[in-house]
Amino acid sequence: MSTITASQEQQVVDQVPRQLYIAGEWRDGAKGTLTVEDPSTGEGLTEVADASVEDAQAALDAAVAAGPDFAAMPPRERGEILRRAFEMITERQDDLALLMTLEMGKALRESAAEIAYAAEFFRWFSEEAVRIDGRYTVAANGAGRVLTMKQPVGPCLMITPWNFPLAMGTRKIGPAIAAGCTMVVKPAQQTPLSMLALAKILEEAGLPGGVLNLITASSSSQTTGPLIADQRLRKLSFTGSTEVGRTLMSQASETLLRLSMELGGNAPFIVFDDADIDAAVQGAMIAKMRNMGEACTSANRFHVAGPVAEQFAEKLAEKMGALTLGRGVDEKTDVGPLIDGTQRGKVDELVQDAIGRGATAVVGGQSREGAGYFYNPTVLTDVPDDAQLLTEEIFGPVAPVKGFADEDEAIAAANNTEYGLVAYVYTNDLKRALRVCERLETGMIGLNQGMVSNAQAPFGGVKQSGFGREGGYEGIEEYLETKYVAVNL
Ligand code: NAP
Repeated sequence: MSTITASQEQQVVDQVPRQLYIAGEWRDGAKGTLTVEDPSTGEGLTEVADASVEDAQAALDAAVAAGPDFAAMPPRERGEILRRAFEMITERQDDLALLMTLEMGKALRESAAEIAYAAEFFRWFSEEAVRIDGRYTVAANGAGRVLTMKQPVGPCLMITPWNFPLAMGTRKIGPAIAAGCTMVVKPAQQTPLSMLALAKILEEAGLPGGVLNLITASSSSQTTGPLIADQRLRKLSFTGSTEVGRTLMSQASETLLRLSMELGGNAPFIVFDDADIDAAVQGAMIAKMRNMGEACTSANRFHVAGPVAEQFAEKLAEKMGALTLGRGVDEKTDVGPLIDGTQRGKVDELVQDAIGRGATAVVGGQSREGAGYFYNPTVLTDVPDDAQLLTEEIFGPVAPVKGFADEDEAIAAANNTEYGLVAYVYTNDLKRALRVCERLETGMIGLNQGMVSNAQAPFGGVKQSGFGREGGYEGIEEYLETKYVAVNL
């Protein structure tokens, strides 16, 4: 990877359309523009269109109008649009990665990994488009027949967060296109550029106008509220915080909208004393430091067997302390900035709360001085049970390590949270591994590995981490309705 120049940075930003994409046309937002910032400098990168309520309404009108034709498009053609878009994303991986790094902050190689991950959803669902099936069975009495068919849900609203600016979009858009649904997409206002670039790619890949409509807005509630209340909308798919998820769910109750909710997490990372400690530390670095800890799947708490807890914390602290902070575009950078000052403030509050209650910062424990929203990678030991960061999502590069006495205690601690997205387990004992996996109250488990994300697998949570699955065979079901026909022969 060669050094990125300021003019290359400017060029990738300038290449992105910065208007609203509605009914196959790029147009200005009625409310003017909103600023996108580079979190590594705190300076403005560019301006994108700011949608009004009427713009959002026009986007839904377009999705509704395009619905019937798109539902009738041959599945193979829908799949081929996705396949072409997959190829184009892959070809443009470097530019898309640079764009993502500029708006979101993470190191270029991490952005490139997200681009590849995001593209995989299009490849996977391009293949799933032609596998939508139904069934035909003889009724139990032998007289009638049971016929079922799967049909697209209809116009969808998709709201996505800033932490994975592209992948959180493609894992909704991919299955929706495969299923024959039209949509309005609203990315986070802090990172709209990756999604705008994606809309352009889909346009070039031949997606008919009106199938995907993209609005960027400074007020998400004002623009999406009326759409959620509109009876023509058939589904809301949301990825974001549990708090906003609750608000949207209550709004959606008015029209009994179909929902997918990919919400917050508080992942436990459990290391048993029979585990390979070096492999566990390696996995911990991935589970903690991917996306600077700003991932719903980020390991939030490290529960380590008493006899190996100190050794684990020391090794983890050594690796965390050796990481290089910097602008994501710098090839030496391991850890980019957090998304903004508010997020960094929240992380520091949680760290100071734990230290105030008796925790020890083995490494880190404070923000980095200077421009940008950097936070030093931190490992905390002696963390008391009442420290807030054990129950709240940290969303930053902070690893609290706590010891446990036995398996029951580890599982009780791991499950002691309102969240249930993912857990990580390190053990070399197969019986224990399966026993523990069965008892953990999460939608996903990384067994002897620090990452679960995979387009082929059903991603999603239980408890207050939400419901619905993205990816895998399950992903397309979120965008299909089952219709049953009772056949009288
Ligand atoms: P957030 O504040 O909930 O925002 C997510 C999206 O919702 C953004 O597009 C935001 O728009 C929009 N939004 C906020 N308030 C809204 C409202 N009242 N009505 C309609 N839309 C609204 O979350 P975030 O800070 O961007 O993302 C971090 C959270 O996402 C974490 O909790 C993380 O765990 C979760 N997450 C979950 C998954 C998963 O798959 N389970 C994956 C990634 C992230 P604005 O940009 O305008 O605020």
